Amino acid sequence: MRSLLPCRTLMPPPDSPLELRQMPHHRSGTNPADPIDTPAEDMLAAESGQATMEQLEILQAPLLVRIDWLIHGFSTRKGGRSMIYSQSPTGGELNLGFTNSDDASTVVANRKDFLEALTGNPGFPLVTLRQVHSSTVVQVEAPPAAASTSGFAEADGMMTDQPGILLGIQTADCIPVLVADRKRRAVAGFHAGWRGTVKRIVEQGLERMRSEFRSSPEDLVAVIGPGIGACCYEVGNEVEDEFMVQCPYAAELFLRVGSAELNTKKHPHLDLVEANRRQLLGAGLDLEAIAVVQQCTSCNTDRFFSYRAERGTTGRMLSVIGIRPC
Ligand SMILES: [Zn+2]
Repeated sequence: MRSLLPCRTLMPPPDSPLELRQMPHHRSGTNPADPIDTPAEDMLAAESGQATMEQLEILQAPLLVRIDWLIHGFSTRKGGRSMIYSQSPTGGELNLGFTNSDDASTVVANRKDFLEALTGNPGFPLVTLRQVHSSTVVQVEAPPAAASTSGFAEADGMMTDQPGILLGIQTADCIPVLVADRKRRAVAGFHAGWRGTVKRIVEQGLERMRSEFRSSPEDLVAVIGPGIGACCYEVGNEVEDEFMVQCPYAAELFLRVGSAELNTKKHPHLDLVEANRRQLLGAGLDLEAIAVVQQCTSCNTDRFFSYRAERGTTGRMLSVIGIRPC
């Protein structure tokens, strides 16, 4: 099976940490458009209006694409075979999580489609977790024996220095964070909702990378994937209180949204992306070594699953990172 994105054909992308690549995948067998050197804005424009139920979309950050031994991608809800969450009567969607409402065999098929589009191999070893909003990070030392629906461990972060394994973080509003050590050839993925963020899962994960792989902050690059933005993430005062206790910079992570004129109460809105960016910076990463996918899942339910916007009944995206097989 042909890979859509062989590393040898990639050109160094512009030095914009915010640019995204799209990898449309046509299951029907038509030739996919070559996304390699197309600016993100052009790709977005070209894609709109053309999306069909046949088209699967994977977002990539140039910061990670330029590392030739690395595989990574952020799925969207576009393409796929799930009908249960679809807002369109004609379009299947790419639910990649074993949710209560979707059929497990459909999710298995979606995962195969996703892996094939990304790697050329529908059976590429994929490890996922039973995510519980913890700060637990596990090390993956070997590929799973077989595709699993139950998850590798109860944890919210994982890391590996072994080739041929994709680490997959499942989200639908929470923030996925992918990290690569350019020098030691190690990778990690983290699931950061507010609970994991206030427990500093990313900081703790980078510390684990230091102790297990001797990773130095100057060799690390990170991408913060699509998640709910401060625009939509209203939280209770108790969440703000907890951040105030745990983070010296907590005041910078909250917006107050409301209007005295309209007589609406001002509620705190949490900027989870900034909270995780601050953890990466605090761990010693350079500003330029961090890319942010600036897309709010809750504002963009045509593209992303959003637990909050869809009131808990929605699918899951996968954010994956791994080392190419030897
Ligand atoms: Zn939003």
